[in-house]
Amino acid sequence: MAFNVSILFRLISSYLLIIVVVLLSGLYTIWNLSEFNRLIRAVASYDTRMIQLAEECQETLYNANAAERKFFVAGDETYLRQFKDIEAALAGKLSELATLADTEKERALLEAIRASLVRYGALFDEMAARVGSGRIPADEAALYRIEQDLIVGDTGQNLRELARISSDAREEKLREIEALSVRNADAILISLVVAVVLMIAISILNTQSINVPISRLREKTKAVARGDFGDPLDIGSPPEIRELAAAFNTMCDRLRELDQMKIDYISHLSHELRTPLTAIREASSMLEEGLFTQMPEKQRELQTLIREGCERLIRSVTRLLDFSMMESGIMPLVVQEAPLRPLVERNLQRFSPVAQRKRIDMRLDIPSDLPLIRMDAEKIEVVVENLLSNALKFTPDDGHITVAARHLGDEKLVEVAVSDTGRGIPESGLKEVFEKFKRVDDGKGAVRGTGLGLAIVKHIIKAHGGRVWAQSELGKGSTFTFSLPA
Ligand code: ADP
Repeated sequence: MAFNVSILFRLISSYLLIIVVVLLSGLYTIWNLSEFNRLIRAVASYDTRMIQLAEECQETLYNANAAERKFFVAGDETYLRQFKDIEAALAGKLSELATLADTEKERALLEAIRASLVRYGALFDEMAARVGSGRIPADEAALYRIEQDLIVGDTGQNLRELARISSDAREEKLREIEALSVRNADAILISLVVAVVLMIAISILNTQSINVPISRLREKTKAVARGDFGDPLDIGSPPEIRELAAAFNTMCDRLRELDQMKIDYISHLSHELRTPLTAIREASSMLEEGLFTQMPEKQRELQTLIREGCERLIRSVTRLLDFSMMESGIMPLVVQEAPLRPLVERNLQRFSPVAQRKRIDMRLDIPSDLPLIRMDAEKIEVVVENLLSNALKFTPDDGHITVAARHLGDEKLVEVAVSDTGRGIPESGLKEVFEKFKRVDDGKGAVRGTGLGLAIVKHIIKAHGGRVWAQSELGKGSTFTFSLPA
């Protein structure tokens, strides 16, 4: 599965998803708890209170009934007052019940109870008034008793019904509370399971999506270590590893290029060392065999051939040694203020026999007031020698070579340029020529040399804090310029 999103985004969004699941379950639990609370409050403050009040009313009613009976039996005013107090207390409890009643049925029952009690009180008042004014006939008293007992019986029945309804409501709410707590526990359990499953699934997915490209990268690294470059790695996501793979591919390309260069270079270098060695061997065996004993001219030619071959070998080996020292950073610089002119002149003199042979005109253009330069003169001589030897090598007969220097006062620099009228370098090769082992082929035959001369030049100039660059026009000539702090 390839999502083109970064590892950071993947991790953050996965954990956010898990947090959302946990949060939702938390919110659901909080909502359930508030419902739970509401029900408990209803049970505690309404239903239980209703049951309690209904039971108290029943008891109060029986007390009122007892006081009323005692009054008619004893005719004592105390019982009358007692009845009145109980009646008032009963009315108080009924009005409290009325505020708690919340169903039609409860309200209807209460209304019936209230009406019965009003009738009960009125009958009692009427009968009590007659007690004062004389004897009450026995049949009326019996009728009164029957009616009052009926009222007390009905009211008691209604109060019990009211208590039963409240008790049912309380039972109902308790069942709801139980169901709610079960639902709550289920929700917490389910969300926990979902969060754990999600976490495991997301972790596996994330780890896989990172692990798979990394193991491909690891396999590829092992293959490259074995020297097997193969096809470039194609990793689409995550972006971090895609970039790593792209950098890895670039590194492989470069390594492949270097590998090829190494192979080419070894064969070139063997050729470079072998050519003078073969010439030396051939010339020395001719001398050994006594050929040309009668021709001193020819013998001298052979000796020159041997000397030149040796010099070429020494030059190649010295370059290799110099370059490896520079690469390892163990090239000590002995910096002193010195004039440029003498060292350039020495070089021109050294190369003048070759220049004469090729009829190349070598000129010097250095102003007499050129300031002294802080440099390691020996190393700068190597630089000039390399540039001059290249110029001579790549300039055909009858050409021109100029070594010019100028002082850039503003920048406190001295610029030295070696120009020739040689074959030139293509635009694409201008930077590459300073790379180690680089030899630019002009397609007109094998290029001689170790490919290290300009790399050595660059090392030395950089060590002096200067800069070196090349300008060239194909077929017309090249100019190699370096600048040094004056
Ligand atoms: P080498 O030590 O083998 O001469 P260099 O590093 O000095 O190697 O030069 C590298 C390459 O740069 C040469 O092979 C040649 O192609 C190119 N080059 C250097 N100097 C010149 C020049 N003056 N004219 C044309 N090509 C040059």
